[in-house]
Parts: sequence; structure tokens; C-alpha cells
Amino acid sequence: MAIEQTLSIIKPDGVKKNVIGPIITKFEENGLSVVAAKMQKLSRHQAEGFYAVHKERPFFGELVDFMTSGPVLLMVLEGENAIAKNRELMGATNPAEAAEGTIRKMYAASIGENTVHGSDAPETAAFETSWFFKGGDIVSH
Ligand code: ADP
Ligand code: MG
Repeated sequence: MAIEQTLSIIKPDGVKKNVIGPIITKFEENGLSVVAAKMQKLSRHQAEGFYAVHKERPFFGELVDFMTSGPVLLMVLEGENAIAKNRELMGATNPAEAAEGTIRKMYAASIGENTVHGSDAPETAAFETSWFFKGGDIVSH
């Protein structure tokens, strides 16, 4: 295993529910550290570019509407096997299918409004991290 960095987003529903604290605690208790963070209300341009891989999907418009509906917390997480570890802690995309104790099982309302984003591979982690953060914004522990 290697030390990796991955992009995490607490989506507008998670920010509105005021569960930033417990979500970050879950990351920290499982060996992930926050090495960059900022609150931001995404522009449509930012959300569309971030999710460009999904632009042909039927839910794309709904996804961009949701992601721009309120502030999000953008973070870079670092740790052993951080990309897969974050995905495991998040749980399945559809909260109805997410394992007990995962973030989406605990907080998400639906497949669309599912509380957290996490990069799914080293290439997407690199792209997604650089979409929101400059190298100098990331402070490794
Ligand atoms: P994940 O976020 O688990 O990597 P995907 O990359 O497949 O999932 O999808 C990106 C995001 O698009 C999801 O987190 C969710 O917010 C939204 N989404 C995915 N599938 C649907 C769907 N069937 N209906 C509405 N929104 C969806
Ligand atoms: Mg994805």
C-alpha cells in the first residue's frame, strides 16, 4: 500500500445537515488526514467541469443543479490507500445499498443527494484535486 491523496467533497445536503464534524471524524478515525480544505458554493462551470465524465448521463442536469444548490466542503484527504479507503467509508452510491456504518448509509437521502463525493482512481484523484486546489494549497502532514 502507498500513501495517496484523494478528493473528498461534503455535498450541499451534508453541509445543510450540519454533519461536517462527524464525517471528518470518521475519516480521521480511519487513518485519513485532511491536508487541504475550503468551503465554497460551486459555480455551474466548476460543477460541470468536475463531473464532465457524466455529461451524457440522464441525471447530469439534476446533478449540477444539486451540486450548485448550496455550499460544499472541498477537501484533500491523505493516508495509506486513501482512494479506496475513502470509497469504503462513503459506502455505495445509492444509500439504500450502502453498508451499515458508512457515511451514505448514515446521512444520505437518495442516490442523487448522497452527502459525499470521493475520487475513484489515481487518475481521477489527480484531476479532481487539481480542479479545485493548487499544489501550494495542499499541506502534507
Ligand atoms: P459515486 O459518487 O459513488 O462515484 P457516480 O460516479 O456513479 O457515483 O455518480 C456521480 C454522482 O452522480 C453520484 O454521487 C450521485 O450524486 C449522482 N448520481 C449517480 N447516479 C444517479 C442517478 N441514477 N440519479 C441521480 N443522480 C445520480
Ligand atoms: Mg464517481
